[in-house]
Amino acid sequence: MAFHKEVVETIYKTVVICDKCGKEKVLNIGEQLSWEGHMNGALHRDYTFMEKGNGFETLCPDCQKEDVE
Ligand SMILES: [Zn+2]
Repeated sequence: MAFHKEVVETIYKTVVICDKCGKEKVLNIGEQLSWEGHMNGALHRDYTFMEKGNGFETLCPDCQKEDVE
């Protein structure tokens, strides 16, 4: 009897990172998320996207509060 084993499953861990304080929040572990999945996942965890320069800045809930004050 001959056996051969290998790992064939790839699991993706997607984390959103606040551009201001660097706080990370896990969005998903498992399938690779679509771009829409990234956006919706971040928004669902109260992260937000602010226009900045030529792109967007990702802000966690705490940094959003700081911006208001
Ligand atoms: Zn932050």
